[in-house]
Amino acid sequence: NRRYINEEIENIIKEINAGHERSLALLFIDLDRFKVINDNFSHSSGDVFLKKVSERLSSCLGKNDVLARMGGDEFIFLLKDFENPDYITAKAEEVLKLFDESIFIGNDELHTSASIGIAIYPDHPISMEKLMIYADNAMYQAKEKGKNRYSVYTSGLLAGMEDEYRLETDLRRAVENDEFVLHYQPQIHPKTGKIVGLEALIRWQHPSLGLLPSGKFIKLAEDNGLINQIGKWVISEASSQNKKWQDAGYNPLKVSVNLSTQQFLTKDLVTFMEDTLARTGLDPEYLVVEITEYMAMEYEYSLKVLKQLKEIGIGISIDDFGTGYSSLTYLNNFPIDFIKIDKSFVSEIMNDHPNAFIVKAIITLAHNLQMQVIAEGVETKEQLDFLIDQQCDFVQGFYFSKPLSANEIERNYLEKNNDRERDY
Ligand code: C2E
Ligand code: MG
Ligand code: MG
Repeated sequence: NRRYINEEIENIIKEINAGHERSLALLFIDLDRFKVINDNFSHSSGDVFLKKVSERLSSCLGKNDVLARMGGDEFIFLLKDFENPDYITAKAEEVLKLFDESIFIGNDELHTSASIGIAIYPDHPISMEKLMIYADNAMYQAKEKGKNRYSVYTSGLLAGMEDEYRLETDLRRAVENDEFVLHYQPQIHPKTGKIVGLEALIRWQHPSLGLLPSGKFIKLAEDNGLINQIGKWVISEASSQNKKWQDAGYNPLKVSVNLSTQQFLTKDLVTFMEDTLARTGLDPEYLVVEITEYMAMEYEYSLKVLKQLKEIGIGISIDDFGTGYSSLTYLNNFPIDFIKIDKSFVSEIMNDHPNAFIVKAIITLAHNLQMQVIAEGVETKEQLDFLIDQQCDFVQGFYFSKPLSANEIERNYLEKNNDRERDY
């Protein structure tokens, strides 16, 4: 248990500080999808699952290792008195492999993986608490890099964390000071080349760091809860900009906004969207929300919210399709208008690559379910030709345009497009 392992760590640190030749490393293990398992199965199943995980972990205990459950789905492997530091990463690899095989609870087959943070006791004295913080930070880094992997703590990591901390303070201020801007990426009808819609993508005009892409701060905003406020700003700004364009006489286009999962799960989302449409005067037909497959995990709740949005007349698009929790149940039952094929599939659709078959199959599936398909991340003519062959409805990507400021959109697209018909 936690107390035993803490004592053990303290003892080893004392001995090292007293000049004894001992080595010490921690593997901080956190299961990747335990919450999903806990939420979707009974808690007693969750307990059985943890027991089975513990048994698996025990199976790779070396003679000097200690294993402890720290609480929840967190475990620590304490490695000590190893001769070669390779022992540490080899152990981490071994632990990751333990999850290759799924775990059965009754008839349910459950998959999970682990993220592991490694902290090695350095050549200068530090406290047990600090060593734990190192391991914990490394574990978070492993999660951020995509889970199911290990990450080793380095002093740069904490520096990175400090940067992040500074950015977080700035982010709070940014919300008050209105430092965000939206860029818009055109969505194109592939055969005619006409613009049919725009995806709004947020940027942060940071006072000293310049224009920051969403990847630099969305995750942070999700972690500290600011995403709700930021997300509301995005919906308002995109709606009012779109209405301004229509009032200026340009052909009406749909504008899509990305919703983070957290924002999607807030209780006032539907009312907020209704109020925004009323306030800006935008016809709901010209607003689309992009959600990800992860939201389908909250099945009943999502179904209810999506039906309400649909009723208002707002379009619904599944973003990054194929990279998350692709369940055919939700696909069949949610009122979805568009599926966006993730750019990771689009980037490799040439040369009989397996992804070409996946793209083909997604388009067929979507069309049979009366949904339209948008391919993201189209960068080459070959990709475009393939997508046209496969009857893909719309395309979006650097081949046509990167995301542009509202002014650039107006100059490069709207003014030129005005004599054309709309069709999306
Ligand atoms: P996404 O919604 O899948 O957006 C597409 C991303 O792909 C955008 O990155 C876009 O600039 C990029 N992209 C477009 N065409 C190409 C291409 O041809 N090749 C490649 N390699 N990339 C292309 P961006 O703007 O950095 O946004 C990244 C992600 O951040 C978005 O992925 C979305 O999930 C999130 N995001 C952006 N704006 C918002 C927002 O307002 N709210 C929320 N919650 N998330 C946002
Ligand atoms: Mg998107
Ligand atoms: Mg996407």
